[in-house]
Amino acid sequence: MEEGPRWGFDFDSVVGDLSEVLERVAQEEFGIRISREEFTEFRLEKCLPFDEEFILAWISRALDPSWTQRMRPYPGAPEVLAELSGIQPLWFVTARSDPGPVREWLKVKLQGVPQQRIFVHAVGPFGSKVEILCREGITHFVEDRLETCEALYRNGIIPVVFDQPWNRGRHPFRSVQSWDDLRGLILGEK
Ligand SMILES: [Mg+2]
Repeated sequence: MEEGPRWGFDFDSVVGDLSEVLERVAQEEFGIRISREEFTEFRLEKCLPFDEEFILAWISRALDPSWTQRMRPYPGAPEVLAELSGIQPLWFVTARSDPGPVREWLKVKLQGVPQQRIFVHAVGPFGSKVEILCREGITHFVEDRLETCEALYRNGIIPVVFDQPWNRGRHPFRSVQSWDDLRGLILGEK
């Protein structure tokens, strides 16, 4: 019998709303008002009138554990993930370097999901997600970064693009607008 799909998830900009954190950090720590709709390139220095030094400082603040704990999940994400955890373990693979704050966040947001059902891998900004996903037998991965989606596709993993201004209309893959869409795709219900 053929096994069903095994889902895996990126963390930032798929499960947690990093764009909102970036907006808030810009405003509250640097006094700059900026809207997420301006994030039209994955590499923010390509679409915003800021120098690389500022961008680095800004992003590194946004990824700070204290801000991570304030990050909001996308609507419906905790519910869909909790339901999925009854069917398969949950795998999160992030390009962050430290899995700790992500684990902590998931522990709080996914209360009721046994900790041994949650796996977080942090491959770092220069690491590859492909290797770990292949090892874990993941068949479908939800991701916002197109370069990663392309690498997954080349290695036989089906990418599902979580729609964001920086990936919109630029790829041949299946995309979802929300966790409601994902619920339909993953759990087969609306
Ligand atoms: Mg991401």
